[in-house]
Amino acid sequence: MTTLVESQPLSERFPRLTARVDVRELERLRTRAHRFAEQHIRPRALEIDRHTDQDPAWFDWDLVRAGAQEGLLSFLIPKPAGGAGGLATQAAIVMEELCAACPGIALIFGAHALGISPLLLGGPSQWDGVLAELVASERTDSPLLMACAITEPEAGTDVEDPDLLARARITSHARRVPGGFRLSGTKRFISNGSVARWITLLMPTDPRRPVETWTCFLIDARSEGFKVARVEHKMGQRACPAAELTLDEVFVPDERVVGREGDGAPETMIVLACSRPPVGAIATGIARGAYERLQAWLAEDPAAKGLLARQHVQLALANMEEDIHLARQAYMDAATELDHVALGGAMSHPAVRALGRIPAAIRRRAPVNGWLSSPRARDATIALLHRTTTEQAVTRSLGLSSMAKARGGDVAMRVTGTALEITGLRAGPVRAELEKLWRDAKLTQIYEGTNQLNRLEIYRTLCQKETINCLPPLHNHHDGHTQQPASANGNGAQR
Ligand SMILES: Cc1cc2nc3c(=O)[nH]c(=O)nc-3n(C[C@H](O)[C@H](O)[C@H](O)COP(=O)(O)OP(=O)(O)OC[C@H]3O[C@@H](n4cnc5c(N)ncnc54)[C@H](O)[C@@H]3O)c2cc1C
Repeated sequence: MTTLVESQPLSERFPRLTARVDVRELERLRTRAHRFAEQHIRPRALEIDRHTDQDPAWFDWDLVRAGAQEGLLSFLIPKPAGGAGGLATQAAIVMEELCAACPGIALIFGAHALGISPLLLGGPSQWDGVLAELVASERTDSPLLMACAITEPEAGTDVEDPDLLARARITSHARRVPGGFRLSGTKRFISNGSVARWITLLMPTDPRRPVETWTCFLIDARSEGFKVARVEHKMGQRACPAAELTLDEVFVPDERVVGREGDGAPETMIVLACSRPPVGAIATGIARGAYERLQAWLAEDPAAKGLLARQHVQLALANMEEDIHLARQAYMDAATELDHVALGGAMSHPAVRALGRIPAAIRRRAPVNGWLSSPRARDATIALLHRTTTEQAVTRSLGLSSMAKARGGDVAMRVTGTALEITGLRAGPVRAELEKLWRDAKLTQIYEGTNQLNRLEIYRTLCQKETINCLPPLHNHHDGHTQQPASANGNGAQR
């Protein structure tokens, strides 16, 4: 079977990369991810798929431990918190490699990264809390996983877009109490939901004003009132459990509000802009996995004898090559734009770098730590975002991310479907792998916003050139009022 890392260097495939990142480091990351996928993921993929078909709650912690040793749980965590400081580009490169082997197993690491992403928006205030705990756990026998919970039983697409959020049928509610909030409600289809120790979870503090009060909370899965109500029987990507979570008056202290109360809607937009390129990469990896398996079968299996000489097979292979190439370009374009144009300025700002140079032991002492988690520091993080990027830049990034995600999902379905058609009933053992990848592919058209929603985002952001309010608003300390950012087109036509 053809499993070698494709030989063309990343610097040639993506010339824009060279000027912006250490491509050799990226190449090393890709090689490591590929090696991990070949050693640990590919050999177990079918077995785990069958296991989780019988018992959807079954979970392979050994794989998580192996991934932890490889740094797969902390590569997105900033360096001052002990992680590798990767961004969307790194996440996408890793996901393509893992998903060419098995997207279900890869999703365990992807959903963990999604759970982490809202915390990254919290800036230095988050470095010394759960992020440091996650890094420390990576070196133990009990690595900790994260999940991100947005979807509700009556609100899926509607909670992934601020316009729709206003009319969404949200039933969850975070009620203010002394020292924090009491959270009640149900979250559905949460990847890693049944195995995560920490969950970033979004719900409104006033259900009558969901857009203005949508807020991100960090939940400890051991909290009283928190329950895994059930685990779904999935069609694809089964290795990663999708769970329904119920919260009954779960107490969350003020310091576990991620960012600021009411900033959840723009935070969700940024998180989705960051997570959609890696989902495009998941889909590209699935398509590549099917293409590699098909090529190996055509070249090596006696049952495929003569097929490569047929023009319709050659045309199909050419289409696959084209599809995969373009899907990869789309996710890399979106990831690099996000990392180096839209959000990179905040991450590499001298103030953030200076804070990162302060030893963690000093940062964790009361006065520094107290300031870092204060409302003023949270406001300062948002102000820094406004200084280093614009609504237009983040909106354009969102459009490119939606394009990468929607295109990738369609390519994954098309390539896996065609591979199945070509092999037909002749295929033997490889058919089970292709059939699994086809089932796995479907999810890439659904999560992180369905392809329909993503295409509507492309229309708004890239066709119509509408500017979306993706940045949390600035707070004006002098009069205590919230300042709306200046409208991009000067006519206030923002959503
Ligand atoms: C296996 C799995 C894992 C998941 N993991 C997570 C997770 O970790 N965290 C999380 O929060 N969520 C997760 N999700 C939820 C996922 O993001 C939602 O399923 C998705 O957003 C769609 O929502 P829905 O299922 O409610 O479908 P609906 O929103 O009911 O949509 C049904 C159909 O209607 C279309 N539609 C809906 N509204 C519009 C509109 N305004 N315009 C045009 N078309 C529209 C949709 O495109 C879709 O085709 C997961 C889902 C699955 C299946």
